[in-house]
Amino acid sequence: MPIKEQPKPPRSRIIGNILLLVSGLFLLANIVLPIFFGPQIPQVPYSLFIHQVQEGEVSRVSVGQEQIRYQLKPEAEQPNQVLATTPIFDLELPKLLEAKGVEFAAAPPAKNGWFTSLLGWVIPPLIFVAIWQFFINRGAGGQQGVLSIGKSRAKVYVEGDANKVTFADVAGVEEAKLELVEIVDFLKEPKRFTQIGARIPKGVLLVGPPGTGKTLLAKAVAGEAGVPFFSISGSEFVELFVGVGSSRVRDLFEQAKKQAPCIIFIDELDAIGKSRASGGFYGGNDEREQTLNQLLTEMDGFAAGDKTVIVLAATNRPESLDPALLRPGRFDRQVLVDRPDLSGRLAILEIHAKEVRLGKDVDLKAIATRTPGFAGADLANLVNEAALLAARNQRQDVSQADFAEAIERVVAGLEKKSRVLNEKEKKIVAYHEVGHALVGAVIPGSNKVEKISIVPRGMAALGYTLQLPTEDRFLLSETELRGQIATMLGGRSAEEVVFGSITTGASNDLQRATDLAERMVTTYGMSKVLGPLAYQQGQQNMFLGGEAPNPRRMVSAQTAEAIDKEVKAIVEEAHQHALDILNQNRDLLESISTKLLETEVIEGPELHDLLAQVKPVPSPTMAQV
Ligand code: ADP
Ligand code: MG
Ligand code: ZN
Repeated sequence: MPIKEQPKPPRSRIIGNILLLVSGLFLLANIVLPIFFGPQIPQVPYSLFIHQVQEGEVSRVSVGQEQIRYQLKPEAEQPNQVLATTPIFDLELPKLLEAKGVEFAAAPPAKNGWFTSLLGWVIPPLIFVAIWQFFINRGAGGQQGVLSIGKSRAKVYVEGDANKVTFADVAGVEEAKLELVEIVDFLKEPKRFTQIGARIPKGVLLVGPPGTGKTLLAKAVAGEAGVPFFSISGSEFVELFVGVGSSRVRDLFEQAKKQAPCIIFIDELDAIGKSRASGGFYGGNDEREQTLNQLLTEMDGFAAGDKTVIVLAATNRPESLDPALLRPGRFDRQVLVDRPDLSGRLAILEIHAKEVRLGKDVDLKAIATRTPGFAGADLANLVNEAALLAARNQRQDVSQADFAEAIERVVAGLEKKSRVLNEKEKKIVAYHEVGHALVGAVIPGSNKVEKISIVPRGMAALGYTLQLPTEDRFLLSETELRGQIATMLGGRSAEEVVFGSITTGASNDLQRATDLAERMVTTYGMSKVLGPLAYQQGQQNMFLGGEAPNPRRMVSAQTAEAIDKEVKAIVEEAHQHALDILNQNRDLLESISTKLLETEVIEGPELHDLLAQVKPVPSPTMAQV
């Protein structure tokens, strides 16, 4: 752990300090002296002033920007006395004064004294010197600047905040909550832990995908702990100038230690905690490295003594963090804040549904079932979308249909009624979507087809087939993956079967199918030829769902060729399977497509009945075995 020795103050810094002193003297001369030698007017609180006005004791008022001076009436307790008060922003004041018949006027702005004009000449060069000094100090390591740029910008939460968050506002992340409740307990009664010699973790890292409630959990800790809570985002440490971040870290910890016991929360830790090894070769990132070093030093620093400062941090990119941060004694406790499961989603929906008026038909359980993979933030957004829809349609409460539409919006994007297709295109899109639906209907383990629509939606889709899961899945078998690929190719296959030609509409389907096939071969080891080896580089970001494959590991030309062959074989097979299913069910393909062209949307029980008639066809792979 390189701890930088404090360098001797450079000459520029001494000059800077002298200039600072000089300007301080000017300020003193300009502001402080007049107070001592100017006329002495007693200062009273604003409330007293208002009271005196209301009592009718005030005769004249002169309202200035920094001061209100007023004179009492001769018949008041202290006749003709002149008093002053500091104004607050109060638009009602003139009305009040007028109502009470008080004579009032605005005070003329103070005349610029020669000091002020002199200051106008002195301060700009001072600022210039200060900035210049910063450039001189680049790389000198966290000098406290002349300006307060090196001060931490942490927000301090205090107890008794009106809209404070508690653990009751967070759901679906029970393990993380347990862990944090323990920390709150420790801060409230440390004796219980220290008596038996237990040491509370110094740093707790909340790790999880975006929107799962990490920031919310930290706020809940702040709300529950009853100790000062310093909150800052990692990116707030990072500035243009080298050395600012590290001095902000130092300042933050200094402030925190003064207020111990307390909690420091660093959100988006990865902004400063990126692995130093991955800095890249164009000069690395000096600033981030110094900030990180300072953080490490500070976390080691407050080990001694009984000052309790607990550092909470959150990140959604744990794999990019510097290993030094994760060492015992620093963020030794890592708490996974994962996407919620079914019961978690239900609990989160219940929390957010409290804020909207629900109709009688709303079944939150059903909504939770249809939203696997949704994080807490998605669910909060979903409830809001549904409420917006209800409001737009002038309804009094939110219905189940609003939720269904909201889910569709989140999954497929907004409807685009303005995108008008011509008859030919519409026909192609209809067959394409029905193709997806027919294949999806008979594929084992595939999600249930809920809706087919040829109303354009979202960024690219001309039509879409909405498949919603019926349960949470954590593992998928090879057969299911092959089935998914076949479903993705169902659209294009339908175009081939019906029109004998293909359009550009299937490019996204092909992309996803190929990606999935590649992952089967290179990540999941599902190819007999290539065996159970990982052909991809490094760790995947565990939270991005791993949609696209990582770059390949260095492989020999033969292996690369073999991979390509296997990927192609998988996709081709799935394609053949889709074609077989569609040829087998050609009549159904025609009748459903014709119907879809008339109605534009088919969904619900009607669709289920139609799709129940699809005859399954064994896949080519199964036939081989
Ligand atoms: P993160 O910091 O993990 O990216 P946030 O804590 O900022 O996510 O979550 C954003 C919003 O989503 C929260 O303010 C809250 O309204 C909602 N939310 C997220 N997770 C949960 C949860 N577990 N329980 C309740 N609400 C949640
Ligand atoms: Mg966050
Ligand atoms: Zn498609």
